[in-house]
Amino acid sequence: SSPLPNDLEIARAATLRPIEEIAAAAGIPAEALELYGRYKAKIDLARLPAENRHGQVVLVTAISPTPAGEGKSTLTVGLADSLTRAGKKTMIAIREPSIGPILGMKGGATGGGRSQVLPMEDINLHFTGDFHAITSANNALCALIDNHIFQGNELGIDPRRVAFRRVMDMNDRSLRDMVIGLGGPGQGVPREAGFDITVASEVMAVFCLASSVADLKDRLARITFGYTYDRVPLTVADLGAAGVMAMLLKDAIKPNLVQTIAGTPALVHGGPFANIAHGCNSALATTTARRLADVVVTEAGFGADLGAEKFIDIKSRAADVAPSAVVIVATVRALKMHGGVAKDALKTPDEGAVVRGFANLARHVENVRKFGLEPVVAVNEFATDTQEELDTVVRLCREAGVRVAIADVWGRGGGGDGGDDLAREVLAALESPGQARQLYPLEMGIEEKIGTVVREVYRGAGVEFSDQARRMLRQIRENGWDGLPVCMAKTQYSFSDDPTLLGAPDGFTVHVRELWPRTGAGFIVAVTGSIMTMPGLPKVPAAMRMDLDEDGQITGLF
Ligand code: ADP
Repeated sequence: SSPLPNDLEIARAATLRPIEEIAAAAGIPAEALELYGRYKAKIDLARLPAENRHGQVVLVTAISPTPAGEGKSTLTVGLADSLTRAGKKTMIAIREPSIGPILGMKGGATGGGRSQVLPMEDINLHFTGDFHAITSANNALCALIDNHIFQGNELGIDPRRVAFRRVMDMNDRSLRDMVIGLGGPGQGVPREAGFDITVASEVMAVFCLASSVADLKDRLARITFGYTYDRVPLTVADLGAAGVMAMLLKDAIKPNLVQTIAGTPALVHGGPFANIAHGCNSALATTTARRLADVVVTEAGFGADLGAEKFIDIKSRAADVAPSAVVIVATVRALKMHGGVAKDALKTPDEGAVVRGFANLARHVENVRKFGLEPVVAVNEFATDTQEELDTVVRLCREAGVRVAIADVWGRGGGGDGGDDLAREVLAALESPGQARQLYPLEMGIEEKIGTVVREVYRGAGVEFSDQARRMLRQIRENGWDGLPVCMAKTQYSFSDDPTLLGAPDGFTVHVRELWPRTGAGFIVAVTGSIMTMPGLPKVPAAMRMDLDEDGQITGLF
């Protein structure tokens, strides 16, 4: 029995300030503001003042999580509120939620408890329409590809080797594989196709890595959508479709401004998957926040082995976003799980399990230091944690020589005093900022890059490539894509590719099944384990508890 109302009730009880006020306080002039109702606005970057505060970036990441999530978004919002409270000009940059997972398992994805971005109903649903625009840009390309084949196929597109799929923002497994173009010569050229969820699309990854509108267009043009009968790669530029795709993203590419419960400005923009993509908000949102604030708190999806590694090796190469400090979110329950406690017994006090599970956190700490950054551990406090368990985590962190703070931003809010200790530790870390460094140089071959991540970050013994992945490695070399960074698609639950191998395993082999070139986004996806690009709904979807009452109020979205 929680002493607190649920996320939606807390959000609804909050008093929002008009977005113009939030913008003015953030230094955004009225003429740069494009209003979407009273509490949301897009920012026209061309109309921002030239002054650039070049704020320090704080990256929020986590230990290997439990399926419930360890509270990265909640801590990101709460920490920013605490920094604001400490007198720092702070801004948040986080992802937009995808409707598919919200209707499936997840509920909302805008923080939690007293640390949320608002208006949470809008942000969780259609927001300012960005994902619909991305869906349209993606599907415009699909329509142009199939029309090109239908109209005589001048480029010689091999219909069996079209490597670009339609998308929608929904969990709908029945759309994964299909045959399109049936019905006779007037209806199209039959071929195998399918849908992915919008957040898994390369257009989403491109959107989030683009450093400007010009760069967006260049990246769209570089997308490889398929191959000729002679297996020559074909790009969006070959088809002449980059212009229309960019046009359809005209407004979407402008960052969205909202506010937290405590009134901290937040840019909520873009939201790529954290497995087959890099899993963080748009580069433009992060760089815009840096122009306006002294500290920018941002988040990367999954644990630090995935999110932080990709933030450094992919996003920080594409845009000027290198972090000065890293926060690793840990929970007592996740530590206990890594210490061998079963999922349904995580609420039972067990200091021994915390001690055993600490190995997982310790490895993430070591890894962040390999990136040249000094982490701060944020222990996200839950009502079920005992004081002894919390003290144990703090003691182990101190023994390991790493900064640590217990945070209750979910219960007390960062606008309250729930994150004061954490803010103090983060500000101290920012006093002597780290110099982020990439794990591997781009000149290294793809096989070696994957090997480096596996050995250095995951601590595996080696990598095994399937025959298909070996063939792809050859093609990648032949096509000159060797110089791209790798984007590891791996389970978030383990350092290995086996989600049941918890704690801090070593000596394992990582199995790379396939390699997917994403030449527009600018990375090669290394697929390990079974990675889904179109999720399905569970037996009892979260959607079943959602409703709209006669006053237009939503229920069940939390
Ligand atoms: P992540 O970003 O790591 O996936 P979230 O911040 O989205 O995690 O949190 C996941 C869920 O857990 C949310 O529903 C949030 O309200 C809840 N939550 C987070 N921190 C706490 C806490 N300290 N106590 C109770 N619930 C929490």
